[in-house]
Amino acid sequence: MTTLFDKVVKTRVPHKCWGCRKDIPTGTMARRLAEAVDNQLVTSHWCDTCCEIIGHLEPGDRRDGFAFGDIIDNCKEEYEKRSL
Ligand SMILES: [Zn+2]
Repeated sequence: MTTLFDKVVKTRVPHKCWGCRKDIPTGTMARRLAEAVDNQLVTSHWCDTCCEIIGHLEPGDRRDGFAFGDIIDNCKEEYEKRSL
């Protein structure tokens, strides 16, 4: 897995957060990530809460990347604490 793009951008179209499936409306600042996985370009957008949780994970937890909704499915307690 190679990271090609990792920046906070202002969204130009609506997205869903890759970590929690929450809507990210147009014009929101969100982290945009583009990675090459098995020669395929995978782009994702992340809300602030998920970015914060990822920042606190052990680096090894991310070795295979995340599936859609992984943060809310696996770190629900942590997520709810932070999104209050
Ligand atoms: Zn999120």
